[in-house]
Amino acid sequence: MKIIDAHLHFVEHEMYFDRIAIAAGHENSEKHLRKMYRELGMIHGIVMGNRTLALEDHIYPEFLSYCIGLDNSVWNSIDLNLIEKHLQRRSCVGIKLYPGYLHFYIYDNSLAPLYRIAENFNKPIAVHTGLTAGNSYTVPKYCEPQVIGIAAEKFPKNRFVMCHFGEPMFKEASQVLKNFKNVSADLSGMLEGRMSKSSFPDSYIRTLKDSLRSIGDWDRLMFGTDFPLANLKNYIEFTKSIIPSTEWEKIFNLNAARIYRLENFS
Ligand SMILES: [Zn+2]
Repeated sequence: MKIIDAHLHFVEHEMYFDRIAIAAGHENSEKHLRKMYRELGMIHGIVMGNRTLALEDHIYPEFLSYCIGLDNSVWNSIDLNLIEKHLQRRSCVGIKLYPGYLHFYIYDNSLAPLYRIAENFNKPIAVHTGLTAGNSYTVPKYCEPQVIGIAAEKFPKNRFVMCHFGEPMFKEASQVLKNFKNVSADLSGMLEGRMSKSSFPDSYIRTLKDSLRSIGDWDRLMFGTDFPLANLKNYIEFTKSIIPSTEWEKIFNLNAARIYRLENFS
């Protein structure tokens, strides 16, 4: 099975990412990632952008695409023309928002111009949801699954990706996916470092599996690792353990290829 990773981070030569990569049994480098991808049958990855909006800072190796990330380093000086220039690129497959860290509601009217650009390019808006995120503090009311539902209803022509499936608010997350067809989710960010399924209490895994099943279709869930936060091999095994094997092809490949429109990588 050819695997697409719908959610990773890739900023080389950055102390924080270097450190968490080592903790997860990896190296934060293109060479290492390329080698791991080859070994694990991973054919493509989508980088959730961080740190800068400069076009030259978002040149990635051919096996990676990216979502232009509007994190704390750029949030107060957003240049819509520049975002448009990113979205014009084939390698830029969406926009990534971080409301829990930056304290805003993604359904706020002030975001309408940004969403219009995303709609024009038919590229999704990926949103950090849930509490997962290393050591950083997130304010739950801005990144709980329900805010995606409100945005999806208010901006029905946009497509939203609920990153981390609202971890650990899985029931709420599944409700939003059930109600809004313009919402999908990635399953990244549940493991950190070298963890496995057995690191969690049974009730956590049961709630996660039940919530995934309750959505009613398997067409809007995507495998994602949050590399370098988690070990890639562990994450593939973990995801296989929570998804029925009949649906692996969709979750590990087809859904991401369709949702992020990666025509050449499926
Ligand atoms: Zn992430």
